[in-house]
Amino acid sequence: MRIDLRSDTVTHPTPAMRRAMYEAEVGDDVYGEDPTVNRLEALAAEMVGKEAALFLSSGTQGNVCAMLTHCGRGDEIILGDQAHTFLSEAGAPAVLGGITPRPIHNQPDGTLDLAEVEAAIRPENVHFPTTRLITVENTHNQCGGMVLPLSYMSQLGALARRYGLKTHLDGARLFNAAVALGVPASAITADMDTVQFCLSKGLSAPIGSILAGPAEFIHRARRTRKILGGGTRQAGVIAAAGIVALTEMVDRLAEDHVNAKRLAEGLAQLPGVRLDPTRVQTNIVIMQLAEGLNVAETVERLREAGVLVSAFYGGRIRAVTHYGITAEDIDTALAVFQRVLEPVHA
Ligand SMILES: *Cc1c(COP(=O)(O)O)cnc(C)c1O
Repeated sequence: MRIDLRSDTVTHPTPAMRRAMYEAEVGDDVYGEDPTVNRLEALAAEMVGKEAALFLSSGTQGNVCAMLTHCGRGDEIILGDQAHTFLSEAGAPAVLGGITPRPIHNQPDGTLDLAEVEAAIRPENVHFPTTRLITVENTHNQCGGMVLPLSYMSQLGALARRYGLKTHLDGARLFNAAVALGVPASAITADMDTVQFCLSKGLSAPIGSILAGPAEFIHRARRTRKILGGGTRQAGVIAAAGIVALTEMVDRLAEDHVNAKRLAEGLAQLPGVRLDPTRVQTNIVIMQLAEGLNVAETVERLREAGVLVSAFYGGRIRAVTHYGITAEDIDTALAVFQRVLEPVHA
């Protein structure tokens, strides 16, 4: 038995994806001639309500491509101190673009306090970097997959426009947010200039992300992608799986949310676990262990018992539900958690 809850990136392509990949019509995408990539980009742009989209090899490449296209050397990006763009992209904007990150404290619900954002916007002064971009994350991974409300997205967009700033949404799990809110993804992205989302997470495609925005921006982003080594050739073989991801795999994310809730409610009953199940809104469950329980040791004992989870920053454990994980798997995983954690408190 092996129940892999480390991430929704461990999903394998579905049989329909394998077939679509096998049959994909292809061309040279650097020449703009891959019909399957072009079809995916048009579909993706439409789904997030933007003029154009670009297919990239990873979410990190999509976010970095966006940041490098929005900003130049000496510019500054306001982002969350728990954001993937700040914590988990190897400092790319600074490394590659001479761009300064300006982290703001992420509130427990994943938002940035708007007054703090406003206070961080630099006035015109020869000493200061130039504030150019505000980036938020929805759903918010480090904050337990919390969904940023629609009203927040529009307030943030309005604030940015008031100061002439651009906005980028790291929507790696944008469709989880859309399904949780019961709205089309385009409602979440309406007030953002650009958005990145992953095809390779809950949507189960093997590889790929989308960056979408105004046509003029995507035209420039195509050059940035080339600089990043992301211009690929017969990419339709991979894009074909992305089309299946967007047409067949979005609605079923609701199952993952139900399973995550089931897991969270079960875990919250265990004396060894500290967890508030009301904070579980999508497919991510983040827990803390009770005093005296060691995270690395617990993760290892769970693994030996067939349940894989991730040791996470700050002494936490993360479990993520996804395609291939059933309600029955959740019950099995809960039984394993109970067995692994209980002797300590016996
Ligand atoms: C996974 C993730 C990314 C990056 O995706 P990769 O494809 O792993 O590079 C970006 N942002 C968030 C919030 C993520 O969870």
